[in-house]
Amino acid sequence: MPDSVINLYSDTQTQPSEEMRKAMAYAEVGDEQRGLDPTVIALEEEVAELLGMEAAVFLPSGSMCNQIAVRLHIRPLGDEMYLHRLAHPITAEAGGAATISGAMIMPLEGEGGMFTADALRDRMRDPSDSHEPRSRLVMVEQTTNLGGGRVWPGEEIDEVLAVAKEFGLRTHLDGARLLNAAVASGRPAAAFSAGFETAWIDFSKGLGAPVGACLAGSSELIAEACRYKQMLGGSMRQAGIVAAGARYGLQHNVERLAEDHANASFLAAGLAELPGVKLDPTTVETNIVIFDVPDAKALDRKLVERGVEMSLLEGRVRAVTHLDVDRAGVEKALAAVEEALG
Ligand SMILES: *Cc1c(COP(=O)(O)O)cnc(C)c1O
Repeated sequence: MPDSVINLYSDTQTQPSEEMRKAMAYAEVGDEQRGLDPTVIALEEEVAELLGMEAAVFLPSGSMCNQIAVRLHIRPLGDEMYLHRLAHPITAEAGGAATISGAMIMPLEGEGGMFTADALRDRMRDPSDSHEPRSRLVMVEQTTNLGGGRVWPGEEIDEVLAVAKEFGLRTHLDGARLLNAAVASGRPAAAFSAGFETAWIDFSKGLGAPVGACLAGSSELIAEACRYKQMLGGSMRQAGIVAAGARYGLQHNVERLAEDHANASFLAAGLAELPGVKLDPTTVETNIVIFDVPDAKALDRKLVERGVEMSLLEGRVRAVTHLDVDRAGVEKALAAVEEALG
């Protein structure tokens, strides 16, 4: 087993840099649960501003942002939520939307983890028919994770939001990688998020921080979110230590996401040339590359032997670029795939 691993398993694999660790070590801290941690407060204000919202709350994870948002919007009265089949609350939150919020879930289909406004409209219920669940919440993932890091165009999101308005739906944006979308498209993060009632960003993905995410919305919704945070055991104490890593990531690691995107494009272009690989490199818009090979499991095994980690997804292979893998690393990964397939 080679000792240096090129880890393209996910952008969650980053190690905090020396400078980030210093910022964390010397952060001013207080009792977060009582609203007395100055670093957490500063972070929450920065994120509210960034997303064009009144308020934000620091949470231990993006999954908790989604779960609290679902709980804010869904009433346990047969309310139905609409999201892509591959969206994180369906695939990776242990069924929490059903358990914690009693949500009816309507998975939508669509290419690249995105659905159209028409696909949403087709699923709307008749509110006067007491047989049917009640249409209540629509969720958009920007960028799409298992959909391949795709950026929903602003106009398409606006069309989805227009349907939501027409049918009185609540709206939530899973912005785990919203800043990747902002950097890739040149559209400010707030231009994507401000039309939603709740939105969040993750610090432990491309921003390179070890822990945390921030959920934003109106002051009223975020005050309510704080109650669920406490209920779920998400309130912390001297959380400024971790919030400082998040603030460092926001200050230093946003613009550089463009490098991850360039590395992913480079990887995709190289992979697409290899015999046996099926991939349209024009669909790679940010830092996620998903491709098909005849035997994904066998490829994954051979890559591990060659010191390269990727992940498997419904029989496909997924590689995610991030700040701990440079161009040379991506070149080595590409060579490893070529050798393994050869
Ligand atoms: C990673 C991710 C989450 C969950 O975030 P955690 O901080 O890992 O809990 C939610 N949604 C999407 C799209 C993600 O990529």
